[in-house]
Amino acid sequence: MNTVMRMSRMYAPTLREDPSDAELASHRLLLRAGMMRKNAAGLYTFLPLGMRVLNKVEAIVNGEMDAIGSEQILMPFVQPADLWHESGRWDDYGPELARLKDRHGVEYCLGPTHEELITSVVRNELRSYKQLPVCLYQTQVKFRDEIRPRFGLMRGREFLMKDAYSFHATQESLQETYDDMSGAYGRICDRLGLEWRPVEADSGQIGGKVTTEFMALAEYGEAEIVHCECGYAADAEAGECICAPSMNECESMQKISTPGVHTIEELATFLNIPESACMKALSGKDAEGRLIVFFVPGDHELNDIKANREAPGFELLTDEEMESYGLPKGSMGPVGLPDIAFVMADRSLKDIPQWTVGANEDGYHLVGARLGVDFKVDAWADLCTVKPGDACPKCGKTLMGARGIEVSQVFQLGTKYSESMGATFMDEDGTEKPFIMGCYGVGVSRSMASVVEQRHDDAGIMWPATVAPAHVCVIPLTVGDDLVQPAAEEIAAALAELGLEVVIDDRNERAGVKFADADLIGWPLQVVVGKRGLADGKVELKLRKTGVKRDAERASIVEVIAPAAEDLLAGAVDPFDRLFDL
Ligand code: ATP
Ligand code: MG
Repeated sequence: MNTVMRMSRMYAPTLREDPSDAELASHRLLLRAGMMRKNAAGLYTFLPLGMRVLNKVEAIVNGEMDAIGSEQILMPFVQPADLWHESGRWDDYGPELARLKDRHGVEYCLGPTHEELITSVVRNELRSYKQLPVCLYQTQVKFRDEIRPRFGLMRGREFLMKDAYSFHATQESLQETYDDMSGAYGRICDRLGLEWRPVEADSGQIGGKVTTEFMALAEYGEAEIVHCECGYAADAEAGECICAPSMNECESMQKISTPGVHTIEELATFLNIPESACMKALSGKDAEGRLIVFFVPGDHELNDIKANREAPGFELLTDEEMESYGLPKGSMGPVGLPDIAFVMADRSLKDIPQWTVGANEDGYHLVGARLGVDFKVDAWADLCTVKPGDACPKCGKTLMGARGIEVSQVFQLGTKYSESMGATFMDEDGTEKPFIMGCYGVGVSRSMASVVEQRHDDAGIMWPATVAPAHVCVIPLTVGDDLVQPAAEEIAAALAELGLEVVIDDRNERAGVKFADADLIGWPLQVVVGKRGLADGKVELKLRKTGVKRDAERASIVEVIAPAAEDLLAGAVDPFDRLFDL
């Protein structure tokens, strides 16, 4: 049986006022509800109530890992630099990787992810195809020196992640584990009570090609998503873009004076044509210093990830660099570019025979510049960031937009780490082969914040029962008397006996304070015990999620709540709904 927790003894310092620097509801409410405190940018302490929630999220995640046969391990948080040199990421990772030296001058980093470490653990020991597949996971603090830590747990520098790694002899075996893992990640979101969707994504620093992100939908999520009624969805950061630029038709190429016009918006207004009929030029250099000029439709943005895919190491030119090439900012175009420039354009522009572009002369633009006649394009590619209104790459219908929080991601890594780090096994045919790998990550602390982001109102948090710091709060309206408090204690004990986690607000506080704290902290069910109700043999139940109240017979309170307790123990996210006919 659970013991009843007492508010009078709990370290749960709630705040009446909103903390000044917390923009997002989840950040604000986790602070106000006394669940965590900030120590420095992106560094937080979990206080007892927050810790209870975090532990529950972790237990759900670990439970789903165990259920698909992944085995738990724990790797060191501090990792030797040597391994990162082997994979090449010591140089590739950039300033997010926090590096340090020990007393002997040996270099280490604080683990932002553990592909290198896990690969070094299994190489030399995992030797035969007969031992495969292997899938290992850990739940551990990670450190990434994020350029902009913000929104509390959403983008911390130190945060809790569950990371899993799998090793396979064949692509089919990887696919199987990848599918199992995706299933588990979906169930984790469901059990957290999240409204979510899987989206196509980019693999970023981690590597590999096939990858899916699991997004909790949220108005203020950092990620932009495009989705279609056919079921297709993608992270706009990476999704394929099929856009339809338009053409400003002219009889021949003409140079026109456009004084003061520097942006696409100004150009479109000046010529009274849509932005999609103007072509935007962006000049930069790739890793080898090659001058590259990209063209995209004026109503779209050049996508950084795609630009880097086509021109590894691509960076926009500085103003001085542009000047040295004779490129005028705000009037760049494809006609008369320096010979050394490599010209790449979004593939959608292939169908536009006449372009409206800069004239490579400040204050002038060209209309009717003919593709293949007045200028040439060296290569075509998907270069734009997809946006709502573009066509669905799966079915061609119009894409819609949404925002989300990336709570987890699964990756098919292939042999990136096993090859670079020499991790091989003996295959059935007697040859040595590099492992085919997968890796999988859940943001445990970010998931906790995402739940709050989706489930809150002005008064506070509305936890699902699966991760609530406790399930029921019994609130005696007065304490120290010989009627109300003993009744509340009795009810609390009886509910705890049902297997519920019960808190009693036994503080000598005004009813208003107790109600406000109960709403703020977000216990799923409140049981209010007062003198007047008791005189009629009644107590009041309040469902935090809706704020709806009802009476219940004090004498039969256990029978009333028992079916909900059963649902709860069976894993229901909102088991108390049924008490309110939901
Ligand atoms: P993001 O794009 O948001 O920076 P990521 O794609 O770099 O995240 P992954 O490497 O996929 O992150 O890490 C796995 C999970 O860890 C993410 O899905 C996310 O839930 C969590 N996570 C990543 N960075 C942070 C962070 N700075 N704070 C909290 N959680 C994070
Ligand atoms: Mg990710």
